Amino acid sequence: MAKHSAAAPLLFQKVLVKLSGEALMGANGYGIDVGVLDRVAGDLGEAAELGVKLCVVVGGGNIYRGLAGATNGMDRATGDYMGMLATIMNGLALANTLQAKGLQARVMSAIPMPTVCESFVRSRALHHLEADRVVIFVGGTGNPFFTTDTAAVLRAAEMDCDALLKGTQVDGVYNADPAKSPDAKRFDRLTYNYVLEKDLRIMDGAAIALARDNRIPIIVFSIKKQGGLAELLLGKGSSTTIDGGRGE
Ligand code: UDP
Repeated sequence: MAKHSAAAPLLFQKVLVKLSGEALMGANGYGIDVGVLDRVAGDLGEAAELGVKLCVVVGGGNIYRGLAGATNGMDRATGDYMGMLATIMNGLALANTLQAKGLQARVMSAIPMPTVCESFVRSRALHHLEADRVVIFVGGTGNPFFTTDTAAVLRAAEMDCDALLKGTQVDGVYNADPAKSPDAKRFDRLTYNYVLEKDLRIMDGAAIALARDNRIPIIVFSIKKQGGLAELLLGKGSSTTIDGGRGE
């Protein structure tokens, strides 16, 4: 794998990128769009080629959300298991596209599915990262009543990542919806406690609290912008950092 020159140092050596299922969705508003998948995989490939160790957690909201099932009368836990299965489909699609681009990628599931992909075993995941393989964690935490945001922080902690990079549809956290308010201002930096107190819903509260307790910075960036991930790793572009603030 081509490695980045020392001229422009990378901000982080090991990161976890959280992609919502929404990140793989096209104009149809459902499922996986092959063109979008290809662009996102291209961005991940570009990041991996910079030499960063890359973990990915992918959501499933483009296919199924347990809460939506529960509001339609389905048992919540069953709906959540269906949501977790949706993340496995997304992860397989992503790994396949990365492999087609010549990258080494492995899918590891929190729900054992040995004929489909590897089961999550921390030591094996660390081994894959050492071998410069992109590791895609699927199946969420393996437990209902959680989200893939919490799974992302959990895996970032287990893999000892320097940061969690949360890909969203906009380039950070704003004080109003930038799609509706042209004067909306982007925050450069926020603290975990501010995000929790103001209930900003960038990620669920459990995920933010787990990141705070384990001192994992969360960087919110745009996954819609082609090349945005590599820019972020090189300290360019715009994003919002959520951390403990000064004096941590
Ligand atoms: N889910 C779960 N436990 C987990 C992770 C996910 O039960 O640890 C289920 C839950 O139903 C959730 C769905 O999987 O709605 C899809 O995950 P999520 O909503 O986090 O996906 P995203 O919003 O990132 O696309």
